[in-house]
Amino acid sequence: MSLPEFKLLRPRSVAEAVDLLAQYAPDIQVIAGGTDLIPSMRQKLFAPRYVIDIRGIRELRGVRSAAIPAARAEGGRLRDSRQDAGVTGEGVEIGALTSLTEIEHSTFLRSQYPVLAEAAATVASPILRNMGTLGGNICLDTRCLWYNQSLTWRKGCGFCIKKDGNICHVAPGGDTCWAAFSGDTPPALLCLGAEIEIAGPSGTRRLPLRDFYTGIGDSYRKLEKNELLTRIFLPQSSAGWHGVYRKLRIRGSIDYPLAGVAVAIRRNNGHVEDARVALTAVNAAPVLVKGVREALAGRAMDEAVAEHAAELAARTAKPLTTSALTPEYRREMIRVFTRRALLQAFNS
Ligand SMILES: Cc1cc2nc3c(=O)[nH]c(=O)nc-3n(C[C@H](O)[C@H](O)[C@H](O)COP(=O)(O)OP(=O)(O)OC[C@H]3O[C@@H](n4cnc5c(N)ncnc54)[C@H](O)[C@@H]3O)c2cc1C
Ligand code: SF4
Repeated sequence: MSLPEFKLLRPRSVAEAVDLLAQYAPDIQVIAGGTDLIPSMRQKLFAPRYVIDIRGIRELRGVRSAAIPAARAEGGRLRDSRQDAGVTGEGVEIGALTSLTEIEHSTFLRSQYPVLAEAAATVASPILRNMGTLGGNICLDTRCLWYNQSLTWRKGCGFCIKKDGNICHVAPGGDTCWAAFSGDTPPALLCLGAEIEIAGPSGTRRLPLRDFYTGIGDSYRKLEKNELLTRIFLPQSSAGWHGVYRKLRIRGSIDYPLAGVAVAIRRNNGHVEDARVALTAVNAAPVLVKGVREALAGRAMDEAVAEHAAELAARTAKPLTTSALTPEYRREMIRVFTRRALLQAFNS
């Protein structure tokens, strides 16, 4: 499958990127690692006239203390040892272009924000994680069996609401797209209370990640065509929480999640002090499960307590027939994974 023709733009700074986006929007698409966008362009899901390759923007790479400005970090980033010593009070800033491999292997993230490092390590395959970025994973397009197909295949089915058509094959009769958000790191980031920074023509805005997603499959994120995701912030208050990520996929070596659960727990004196559970691949957005803190805080974790929270997670999951596995199985696996992940995180 060939790529559609496009003009490639290569800015060297955020300011230059924002200018180019303003100039060519809406017929422009950001590319970071390209691991999701390129296959989608080959399938003719996107055919922008301009593609803006942001990989030359060095300031968007690396993990650093949010307290230390990027310019002062060695070579644009901090060594893990320095992070171990220096990250205090302000939490951590991760550039949107930071590769998933770097997140997976960061000694600092593995010790302080383990659920994120673990989720990053499950994305695709090692080669794709070398190319794929955290920003791309957050902005990832939603997925559906009827959408992630070639043009010929989609044409044969009469297209669908998400692209070029006006019916939904998953929920016929409705006018909503239910394609599933299928990124692995966003549920981990939600558990950590992450915020993101977006740069656009009128400056930068910072918002909680949970407010970035709409829950609608064909307009799943609040990002204008002239905007760029620049940074991700993890609060100091989430550092040191015990975390586990569990994922259901068909091929263990490479596939997107068909159900995913991130769990983060703060323990104190043999009890849960605080806890969060977030899901992916079973709704049109990654979602935090409501009521988990209330169900777990102040209690010691055992099978029954974990099962109670797992039931809340299963009720939050709303999988439809957007993937190769049945909605019933995916929902059940959310319950099983949540129970196991809570027990593991508590006992780790
Ligand atoms: C075979 C295969 C298996 C995969 N398995 C998984 C998996 O298991 N889990 C998973 O989560 N993903 C998976 N992926 C998808 C992909 O590898 C990852 O999600 C990766 O993190 C995407 O990052 P990227 O930098 O390559 O994004 P790109 O492909 O460059 O971009 C993805 C989307 O984000 C937008 N974007 C990227 N960066 C920015 C930015 N800074 N600001 C604004 N918009 C931006 C792009 O315009 C595009 O819409 C898989 C891909 C393949 C090909
Ligand atoms: S959920 Fe419906 S509209 Fe959305 S991609 Fe699938 S078939 Fe298309």
